[in-house]
Amino acid sequence: MSDTALANPPTIVPFLKFGADGAPYLEGQQCADCGEIYTTERMACSKCFSRKPFKAVRLPTTGELYTFSIVHRSYPGIKVPFVSATVDLDGACSLKGTLIDVEPDPEHVKTGMKVEVVFRELEHKNKEGRTYVSYFFVPKKG
Ligand SMILES: [Zn+2]
Repeated sequence: MSDTALANPPTIVPFLKFGADGAPYLEGQQCADCGEIYTTERMACSKCFSRKPFKAVRLPTTGELYTFSIVHRSYPGIKVPFVSATVDLDGACSLKGTLIDVEPDPEHVKTGMKVEVVFRELEHKNKEGRTYVSYFFVPKKG
């Protein structure tokens, strides 16, 4: 484990990274041939089938709500209802996550609404007692 991994909090997904300044960001993998971006590393691009190595890129922090579900039943300890969202990140890939800071009902959540990516600490801790960090979507202000 590197010093960086010890300094930074645990994350819920491997593509949530921390910059040199300690600020979290999401890292995508970009196809060297066609530029398609994915959240996870792949053996080949599913758009152009290139097998060249992918390039790590920072994912944008803005996007548009593509679709959502309001979840009323989940695992023990998970507060419901919440909004499970799929967002098309601007100029990049789709990303699934939770939309927060909005009433979880169809009156307040609309497909096509502009959203931003934010990072928050979770209530859950790992076995060393360190708090997990995750990404969420929030409605874009203004
Ligand atoms: Zn490609």
